Formats: sequence, C-alpha cells, structure tokens
Amino acid sequence: MEEKLRTIKEEAHTEITQSQSETTLREIEIKYLGRNGILTSILRNVKDLKPEDKPIVGKLGNEIKIYIANLIEEQSKKLQNKKFAEQEKEWIDISAYTLEPKITGHLNPLTSLQYELEDIFKNMGFHVWEGPYLEKEEYNFTALNIPQDHPARDMQDTFWIDKNHVLRTHTSPVQIRAMQSLKPPFRVIVPGRVFRYEATDASHENTFYQLEGLMIDKNISISHLIYTMKTFLSAILHKDIEIRLRPGYFPFVEPGLELEISCIFCDKKGCSICKHGGFIELMGCGLVHPDVLKYVNIDPEVFSGFAFGMGLERLVMLKHRINDIRYFLGGDLRFVTQF
Ligand SMILES: [Zn+2]
Repeated sequence: MEEKLRTIKEEAHTEITQSQSETTLREIEIKYLGRNGILTSILRNVKDLKPEDKPIVGKLGNEIKIYIANLIEEQSKKLQNKKFAEQEKEWIDISAYTLEPKITGHLNPLTSLQYELEDIFKNMGFHVWEGPYLEKEEYNFTALNIPQDHPARDMQDTFWIDKNHVLRTHTSPVQIRAMQSLKPPFRVIVPGRVFRYEATDASHENTFYQLEGLMIDKNISISHLIYTMKTFLSAILHKDIEIRLRPGYFPFVEPGLELEISCIFCDKKGCSICKHGGFIELMGCGLVHPDVLKYVNIDPEVFSGFAFGMGLERLVMLKHRINDIRYFLGGDLRFVTQF
C-alpha cells in the first residue's frame, strides 16, 4: 500500500508539472483529490485496512494529499505568471506619450524647383501662365512658325489626338495664348507638363516638364536675355553662373541660341559631367521671330522680345546629380524620399 501511494505521488508530480493549462490542472485535481479521486478513495477506505497499516497509510496519504494540492497551486501560479509575461509583450498603453505622426508625403523635386523658379521670376516682374495639355495643332506648331511641311515637325515626335489636336510637345503654345491675350509690354513664364511620342531611356521621357519664358517690350535685345538668364540661373543654382551662347536652331526665334552654363561641379576646370569642356548645355533661347509676333498681331517694327525654354528635369538632374530621367515618374519611394 505504501508503495502504491508513492507511485501515485510520482505520477501526480509528473502530470502536474507538465500541465500547461488551468483546465488540465483542474482535471488532475479532480482525478486525485476529487470526491471520487484516487487519493480520496484510498483515504476513505483506510478504515478497512489492517490495524498496523492504518496509521502509516493515513499519515502518508494525507501528506501526499497536501503535497498534490500545494503542487497544483504552485503550477497554477507559474502558468499565471507566464500568461502575464506574454500579455506584457503585446501591451499597448493608450495613455502613453507618442511622437507626432510621421508625414512621409512631400513635394516632388520637380515641383519644388518649379515653385522656386516661379518665385525668382515673379521677383523680376514675370507672371505665371498655364495652358492646356491637349493643344490645337495650330498653337503647338503653325503659330510658332512651324508650318505643315517644315522639318521642325519631325524634330518633335508627337502624340496626335486627331488631325487638329495634339498633346502639347512643348510649353511654347502658351506663349501664343499669352501674346493673344496680353498687350505688350509684358513678361510671362509658363511652367508645365509636355509630351513626346518617344521611347524612354536615361535621358528621354515621354512625359516631362518645361519652363518657358517670354518678355515682349520695346528695344529688347540679346543683352536683356543674357542678363535675365544669368540672374535666374545664379539664383536657382545658388552660385555665380557664367553663361555662353552658341547659335542654335529653333523656328520660333531669330537668332536662335543654345545656352550653356559654367560647370557647377568643377568651376570650368573640366570634369566628367561637363565632358571636360567646363560648360554644360542647358537650354534654348533667342529673340522672338518676327513672324511669330506678326501671327499674334504684334508689330515687330515696334516691339521685340526674347524667349527661352528648358527642361525642368535637366535642371533637377544637374542640381542633384541624378543620372536617369526615368526616376522622376518611376514611383520608386527610395528615390522620392531622398528629397
Ligand atoms: Zn565640370
């Protein structure tokens, strides 16, 4: 009998220490200590044992009963603590101090540059004009001195919507709209999106941004153009910029000029970016072609003007040393969040 009790103690010990839930513990308690439990039954029947066994079994039985009860209590506490520890890991304190929500959205570098340019030009007396993306063929080409059979139409691959409408290939049609609406003298800039039917590569996109400028007044000459270009480029690049002009062909200006700026990376000493020439090609400009003025009923004998246009991507790429234009529309957060 004594042996049997010791076995019961060992078995109960194993079961209790291995149990992982309150439910199991309650089942064990009932199994051993319940009304019809193993131990309860033995103790209830002590009276039927031989007289010499009674005290031994009674004493040992009660000891084991207390031992099992204590062990269940102990295991129950252990399980509780374990549960609390797990809950603590996922504890959320709603009253706890927290940082302001992180704002990840911000202006695209193109937009920031456009706003910066608008401020610079507004300070020089320019107005900001906008125009439609879907443009009349006439405004996009003909009015700008690019007639039907002119080879310049081949220079710009175009998204034709129908015979008379295109997605504007440059911001220049807005010059025509401005000249038709305003009485000279005036100064306008036109920032905006333009479209070309073109395969993309590191320096070509089918959708990009330009900024166009136009000043019409009496006696406007190349020196006004040079002064304005030098002033805005130095302001936007935060550096004293030298400019250099070469002849260039654009149908809507005469003379047409290619504008180059002193390399902002090597100060004209020569580097890989300026291809060791010390100057970087940046934009086209020139004096407004008399035919363009005539088209919008401005007398070229009285008024003259200068115009310029550039790709905003090109300027942002220079400023931030970006080597692929496709990043701007790529939607890659690793690119965008750098600015
Ligand atoms: Zn350089």
